[in-house]
Amino acid sequence: MRPVIHSFDAVILGGGAAGLMCAMEAGKRGRRVAVLEHADRLGKKILISGGGRCNFTNIHCTPENFLSSNPHFAKSALARYTPADFIALVEKHRIPYHEKTLGQLFCDRSARDILGMLEEECRAAGVSIFLGTKIVELSRTTEFIVRTTNDEFRAAALVVATGGLSIAKIGATSFGYDLARQFGLKIREPWPGLVPLVFDQQDRPRYCDLAGVSADVIASCDGAQFREKMLFTHRGLSGPAVLQISSYWKKPNSIQIDLAPGRDVTAIFHDPKAPRTLATLRQELRKILPTRFADRWLELHSPSSWTNSALADFEQQLHAWTIAPSGTEGFEKAEVTAGGVDTDELSAKTMECRRVPGLFFIGEVVDVTGHLGGFNFQWAWASGAAAGRAL
Ligand SMILES: Cc1cc2nc3c(=O)[nH]c(=O)nc-3n(C[C@H](O)[C@H](O)[C@H](O)COP(=O)(O)OP(=O)(O)OC[C@H]3O[C@@H](n4cnc5c(N)ncnc54)[C@H](O)[C@@H]3O)c2cc1C
Repeated sequence: MRPVIHSFDAVILGGGAAGLMCAMEAGKRGRRVAVLEHADRLGKKILISGGGRCNFTNIHCTPENFLSSNPHFAKSALARYTPADFIALVEKHRIPYHEKTLGQLFCDRSARDILGMLEEECRAAGVSIFLGTKIVELSRTTEFIVRTTNDEFRAAALVVATGGLSIAKIGATSFGYDLARQFGLKIREPWPGLVPLVFDQQDRPRYCDLAGVSADVIASCDGAQFREKMLFTHRGLSGPAVLQISSYWKKPNSIQIDLAPGRDVTAIFHDPKAPRTLATLRQELRKILPTRFADRWLELHSPSSWTNSALADFEQQLHAWTIAPSGTEGFEKAEVTAGGVDTDELSAKTMECRRVPGLFFIGEVVDVTGHLGGFNFQWAWASGAAAGRAL
């Protein structure tokens, strides 16, 4: 059977956050745009994001909230499409939202509101959407030719918005990385980010029965640090502080955790009347850590004696619990994929490949990864808008 041939100004691969933003921006400017999505519906990740309420941006967004081999790369796009721009869109669609904590904006009702808004904007901009499309071949002559099972799409511009590797069961593929390699572009080897960590053999029996217990900590690794909650799981550690630091962690490095930020647990012993006993120390530690964790910590790390120097060691250890995870829970549990298409290959203003004119990469497939808290969507919106305005 001969394929049906479609001609567009731009073909966008992937109908997720970045692809839809790019499509609506280009469509609004009169470009004839097609979005090819292999799943049976658009924006599946948007629907499950933020526990179903989509943490769609963060009002405190700065370039420092992103990891990339080039920390300057994201600045231009982030400055030209800001959280205020996205909030204006959300308000135009009368979507109720609230700030949960630390500048994180969530839908009051459901993530469906955000997806519905993007779909409506795409419809209004005349964007053509093709669902359930399997891309079987991609080539470039004077234009890009994308062959799907039954059709052929031709366009002068091709935008890759196929996302990262996180959560294959809802449609993540390595397509974007493979395509970048096909065109000879450099890739920063992808790794799972915002992901729970797994204890090594030694720590697992010590702590895993504490699953569900959480504490306010500072987690540090590779020059980064985050003060938020840490949570024990059946296999290791999670919670916002650990998810954040996981993006900076690579095996075999270790992670430091301050279990009593800004507190001096042994200060009581400056008082000569305070009995230097385990009971006193337990009482003090329980003021800071949940009882079960405080008791476990003392079982494993009780001071070697009651001298000032032994107490100082105890205090020091509490502020620098060092763990060497055996690994992470992997791409199946990762909220994001770090690494990706090397930013050296792309224009920071338009996301177009320097070496392959007309080819653009946007969103998570690019080596720009946000912290937890709405930053990854802000990158998807900003990079999508940057490319959409250049098409
Ligand atoms: C559980 C979870 C919760 C999250 N919550 C938040 C949150 O609250 N706030 C936040 O900022 N970030 C959150 N994120 C991260 C955020 O969802 C992503 O960073 C963002 O969706 C990336 O946008 P994208 O368009 O680059 O990729 P995606 O949104 O993943 O879109 C890529 C699209 O491409 C399609 N695709 C893949 N391969 C192909 C192919 N071969 N052919 C055609 N189509 C293809 C996919 O089906 C998908 O629709 C969350 C992630 C997860 C996994």
